[in-house]
Amino acid sequence: MDCIFCDIIKKRSKAEIIFENEKVISFLDIRPVNSGHALVVSKEHFDNFLTISPESLKELIVATQFIAGAVKRAVNAEGFNIVSNNGTVAGQTIFHFHFHIIPRFKNDFHFRFDTKPYNESSLKESGKSIRQVISKYKDIFHG
Ligand code: 5GP
Ligand code: ZN
Repeated sequence: MDCIFCDIIKKRSKAEIIFENEKVISFLDIRPVNSGHALVVSKEHFDNFLTISPESLKELIVATQFIAGAVKRAVNAEGFNIVSNNGTVAGQTIFHFHFHIIPRFKNDFHFRFDTKPYNESSLKESGKSIRQVISKYKDIFHG
């Protein structure tokens, strides 16, 4: 399977690596939103947030917390966004699961989703349909 992140993990492609342990690697995004924009990647290949194993996800999120603190301090950011794009429609371009750490600075850019209002019935309908799916699948959740 062709995967640029697997190539980076196997050192077949170059990257500016900032952290690495047995399970996780982190390197700078080649097209940064801001300087210090980092990607945190599970060494095992999983396509997205829904297919990564809970064990690997735990390793990844704990590493992401640690690296986010380091990035924030290193580039003197005032805040940061943790972003995960899942599916082409959501902007995912590399189908090897990863978190973005995007350091943020005052007045750097406007990061807000467009919102749409619910009315009373569509709010309740959305809640109901999601609760139905959750109740159907709750036995596979061991959180
Ligand atoms: P996605 O679009 O899947 O959420 O994020 C993929 C990110 O990987 C993009 O922000 C893109 O700039 C970055 N990227 C793509 N190819 C490479 C590469 O070869 N090296 C590095 N360091 N980053 C890459
Ligand atoms: Zn991969």
